[in-house]
Amino acid sequence: MDYYSRQITKLIQELSALPGIGTKSAQRLAFHILNMPEDAVEALSTAILDAKKNVRYCKECFTLTDDELCPICKDTGRDHKTIMVVENTRDLAAYEKTSKYEGVYHVLHGAISPMLGIGPGDIRLKELMQRLAGDVDEVIIATNSSLEGETTAMYISKLIKPTGIKVTRIASGVPVGGDLEYIDEVTLLRALEGRREL
Ligand code: ZN
Repeated sequence: MDYYSRQITKLIQELSALPGIGTKSAQRLAFHILNMPEDAVEALSTAILDAKKNVRYCKECFTLTDDELCPICKDTGRDHKTIMVVENTRDLAAYEKTSKYEGVYHVLHGAISPMLGIGPGDIRLKELMQRLAGDVDEVIIATNSSLEGETTAMYISKLIKPTGIKVTRIASGVPVGGDLEYIDEVTLLRALEGRREL
């Protein structure tokens, strides 16, 4: 790639380090950026920096937010006694898009995977257990139906059982290995409604 100037090559390299961006896309993006008005480029880079600097974990549910508490945890109109456990913020967003779920969430930021060396201590499980010391009626486990998601669901249900809190698992309307993110809202709702007690 040394037929470009060093700075262009650097820009292409940085862009191609992003997920889903191959060298060709990175080149296209780089030249697009170079053709943009300077204030538009500045707005883009500021947005990236601001998000990186200010976005943090909600102290209640651990989703990504730019405030101490996320808008969902702040919302007193929601049912704070029902907690849906999801693997990541994108899964939370998928359920929010259905606008039918009225409870709150807990974001694990991963799933247990012995193969990848990810254990219970590597996801936000301890924080979930701490929340359960409060007033909670039900924990809905909505981890993916992948091997990791199922392992995590089983592990969580075993942890919670002794507390006497109701634990449910979303129905298997969600295809095996399916990433919650890509599933349509109707299927998500059906999975939620058809949840069974563990
Ligand atoms: Zn929150």
